[in-house]
Amino acid sequence: MNPYDHIKNEDQEVFSAITGEETREAEGLELIPSENYVSLAVREAMGSVFTNKYSEGYPGKRYYGGQEFTDQVETLAIERAKTLFRADHANVQPLGGAAANIAAYFAWLTPGDTVLGMDLAHGGHLTHGSPVTYMTKLYNFVRYGMKDIDTGEIDYDEMLATAKRERPKIVLAGFSGYPRTLDWKKIADIAKEVDAVAMADVAHIAGLIAGGALENPLDHGFHVMTTTTHKTLRGPRGAMILSKGTVSTPLKAPEKTIENLPTLIDRSVFPGFQGGPHMHQIAAKAIAFKEASTPAFKEYAHQVIKNAQAMAEVFTTGGVRLITGGTDNHLILADVYGSLGISGGEAELLLDRAGMTLNKNSIAGDTRKPFDPSGIRFGTPAMTTRGLNEEDSREIATIMLEVLDKRDDETVKNAKERVRSIALAHPVPESFV
Ligand SMILES: *Cc1c(COP(=O)(O)O)cnc(C)c1O
Repeated sequence: MNPYDHIKNEDQEVFSAITGEETREAEGLELIPSENYVSLAVREAMGSVFTNKYSEGYPGKRYYGGQEFTDQVETLAIERAKTLFRADHANVQPLGGAAANIAAYFAWLTPGDTVLGMDLAHGGHLTHGSPVTYMTKLYNFVRYGMKDIDTGEIDYDEMLATAKRERPKIVLAGFSGYPRTLDWKKIADIAKEVDAVAMADVAHIAGLIAGGALENPLDHGFHVMTTTTHKTLRGPRGAMILSKGTVSTPLKAPEKTIENLPTLIDRSVFPGFQGGPHMHQIAAKAIAFKEASTPAFKEYAHQVIKNAQAMAEVFTTGGVRLITGGTDNHLILADVYGSLGISGGEAELLLDRAGMTLNKNSIAGDTRKPFDPSGIRFGTPAMTTRGLNEEDSREIATIMLEVLDKRDDETVKNAKERVRSIALAHPVPESFV
């Protein structure tokens, strides 16, 4: 069955864009560490009738009628999320990771308050205080970072000293460009020492946590955890906010205490920040959380890391310097300019021509400009969903290095053919359970 029959009949232009993207995804290798492929069940939910429904509020407390089934599906998503991440509360309404972080800031902070977050050049995310975001007009962001970029070790002593000096209201731990793990316990202790909320943004690694391949910050004293649902967690594009504490009715403004965070967060997401929730995505989140609680997903999460480590090894052996010297998670940051004399931008372009999609990335202390930096960032979540193992990972890394080394049309053309045949031999599974 062609699932796009109606689009084909009604709108040839959009049909052509969708089928083009379908072919691109089928024949190329997706190495962008924040991307993944979802199951057909997740996609069906996103195309379901729930997109028709307004349901401002929360299950049992809505501002519109006709909520029998929205309540049913949102409750499922909430309960599954809580179980998966051992949280006391889950708000599954945030439309994306950026929105989730903003809603979490607003739940706890007053304008002028300080947030201590990871240096963006060391792997932190834009929403953790980049000057180009509006949040920096409201809040004061201060930084911690790596002590040594060749091992990736975080300078926890400096972090504590900065926390004592700056008195942040939130200590924020999370990243989108850091290939190691954080000492969650140590960071939670630092937050405690200065009476701050410990907030983790696990947007990139939520699936690895759900699959038991990485530690869960909520098990180590963190109060709040935001995450996207579409990266390693392999669900629909969207996000959620998990928390520890007591849940009470969000209709009454509670006292601002750490214990009340779940309620403060609910009020912050709606009506504080967003309007009606996207119930079709919430239905898809519920399905993704069910998929993420299976033994198969556990295996997937562990394989993602094994594959990343196999690729890292090939790069290191090939003489390429990796930021932090390797990886403990799903992503790799390589200094291609320093090691091979090719800029991150050129590398991205060449590899794209060879059917491998990834992104250029600044590295800590980069001497090059952000739009053509020294590094590339790539990762294994999407290719692992296709069933690729360590051996395949080594082969792909070897092809990447050949392209980056030789750079001529012939090499690129050969690489593209090899990539295409690997991709076609590993179609995206329709179901993961
Ligand atoms: C991807 C990401 C976000 C933003 O998510 P969007 O859904 O793109 O808004 C926030 N924080 C981190 C750490 C991320 O990696």
